[in-house]
Amino acid sequence: MQRSYVIKPELGKSYPFVSHGKGIYLYDKEGKRYIDGCSGAVTASIGHAVEEIAEAMYAQARSVSFAYRSHFSSDAVEELGAKLAEWAPGSLNWSFFVGSGSEATETAQKIAIQYWQEKGYATKNRIISRWMSYHGITMGALSMSGHVLRRKRFVPLLADCPTIAPPYPYRRPEGMPLEAYALACANELETAILRVGPEHVAAFIAEPVIGASGGAVVPPDGYFQRIREICDKYQVLFIADEVMTGVGRTGKRFGIDHWGVQPDLMALGKGMSAGYTPMAAAMATDEIIETIARGSGLIMAGHTYSANPQSAAVSLAVLRYVEQHRLVDRAAERGAYLLNRLRELADELPLIGEARGLGMLCGLEFVKDKKTREPFPLAQGVSARIIKRAFEKGLLIYPATGGLEGVAGDAVIIAPPLTITTEEIDELIALLKEAVSSVQQELRQEALLV
Ligand code: PLP
Repeated sequence: MQRSYVIKPELGKSYPFVSHGKGIYLYDKEGKRYIDGCSGAVTASIGHAVEEIAEAMYAQARSVSFAYRSHFSSDAVEELGAKLAEWAPGSLNWSFFVGSGSEATETAQKIAIQYWQEKGYATKNRIISRWMSYHGITMGALSMSGHVLRRKRFVPLLADCPTIAPPYPYRRPEGMPLEAYALACANELETAILRVGPEHVAAFIAEPVIGASGGAVVPPDGYFQRIREICDKYQVLFIADEVMTGVGRTGKRFGIDHWGVQPDLMALGKGMSAGYTPMAAAMATDEIIETIARGSGLIMAGHTYSANPQSAAVSLAVLRYVEQHRLVDRAAERGAYLLNRLRELADELPLIGEARGLGMLCGLEFVKDKKTREPFPLAQGVSARIIKRAFEKGLLIYPATGGLEGVAGDAVIIAPPLTITTEEIDELIALLKEAVSSVQQELRQEALLV
């Protein structure tokens, strides 16, 4: 009996014990090798067991691991803050460090509300979000999340966040041109703001590319530009949740950079420390921080481990590694190759409705009927079957079925470390093909696939 928090292993038996990792591979204690085709939870973006990071970790631990943020700053924290300011678009020059993506989005939510309070608009305290979104598991973050499976047990405890539909090009109204669709989806924000009343709306939050609740759904050009216009028109802050898309994952430094839009707040996590330590951040513009500095002078957020030097040193080493090895460009180049290979697979296998993605964040959506795009009933657990089959074959892929029955389909994420080579991508594709083909055959035998 494994006495960790895991109660129901998805594989029908106890989880294997991980032994070690190297590059894109993880090994269990029985010697089986797995391709980390999803960087864990789209996190291990520079691959496993990178020596430079271990060295930075050791050096910082020998000097000081923990100093509380209301007592001290540190070189590691300040250098990391400066590096992120250099990376981030526009005047997103300030970082509030936390320990997880959920804390980052929730801190961004709090900073948005506090900003309006300090400006004298105390009623601007609602956050508008989208269906098919995931912003984290803590109550504030979950309130903003449109991931039905993760939120439905806790609905009575969640704050009321008005929610609009995201662009979902694969399932847009038949024949609708993408440009018109992009504008129609963005204009839903204007309608929502007007319904709630702009005097009550603090911010709008969105993932540049939808991750865990849809499987790398990329918005059409024009969508985020129009969102920015609407936010400006009604004095609503725009929070980009870059927890999954940030730090090179999509082939630009941040997902939102693909559309040249500047957010007011940005949440980072995952790839920011690439799994080497828990580390995340809420980034804010000069305008927001200067307003708070002139007012109360204290951001009302934070956790014990916020801005600890140990995690900052590790994250800084990760960002330097990403720069030195040109991993952002590599994510764009190799990501294009990966998406190409996934599209070939989609052409070949009727079970795959669409292969999509941006950079090294790709997704597959599975459909019952490729022509009509009819999704599977969620109860059939099609993506779970594929993930399980891939695991058995030594390939890790990530679930991305958000549970919007009848609206969104079964999906998975393919997002290997940004360091993956083309040969390794070929190896990944071969295993993926075996896994999907095998489940496809099974579904046919059960007469579940058209
Ligand atoms: N935001 C996005 C876009 C995410 O994908 C996730 C996690 O998957 C989170 C927030 C929450 O991050 P964490 O699991 O580190 O709390």
